[in-house]
Amino acid sequence: YALNRACLESGTPLIHGAAVAYNGNVSTIIPGKTACLECFQGGIDDSELPTCAVVGVHPSLVNVIGSMMASEAVRVLAGLMPVLADRLMFVDFHDLSFDVIKLMRSERCPVCGESDREPYQLTFEPIVEICGREGRRVFVFQPDESLDIELFRVLEKVEKLGYEVFAQGMLGFSFVGSDGVKGSVLKSGITILEGFNTRDSATRFHANILGS
Ligand SMILES: [Zn+2]
Repeated sequence: YALNRACLESGTPLIHGAAVAYNGNVSTIIPGKTACLECFQGGIDDSELPTCAVVGVHPSLVNVIGSMMASEAVRVLAGLMPVLADRLMFVDFHDLSFDVIKLMRSERCPVCGESDREPYQLTFEPIVEICGREGRRVFVFQPDESLDIELFRVLEKVEKLGYEVFAQGMLGFSFVGSDGVKGSVLKSGITILEGFNTRDSATRFHANILGS
């Protein structure tokens, strides 16, 4: 919803794609012209939905959804009408069905319509668990505003803890340890940690490397 609202405000087309377990969907949103995400999928509380960290996601489904999104992005960039404008492609890998559902802008949409209903309240989650990689849990730590951290200080701490930095650039670095932990730290303060069994242990490690 945050992306939907930011794109509506800035007039930027949004290629919406989602996949979890065996189901995925794609739709292209052209601000002011097509239905927005909250016209057809508004008011859903993310925390009540199954996540791919828990129920998984079919790897081939991610490929299919991602490829459709890329194809739509190319059409938008080339100035062509996207195929999935005002349409929702619904993919079900249980029976390999691909259904296209017609969408319409909703006058009563609290975000792009004329309704005076309050839009769904967005909440900020500083720690999010995303799709597991190779059966390992992955946590993303995001500061509530973009930071400008001194990467070399964090890098030093990580190396002191015995981890090996295998990629490094101006905007971030990535490291790996013999304990199976992998991570990336971005200059903006966003940190991705993989391989910790619990949220608490990931949080402690995060505080340890980014604490002053
Ligand atoms: Zn809308």
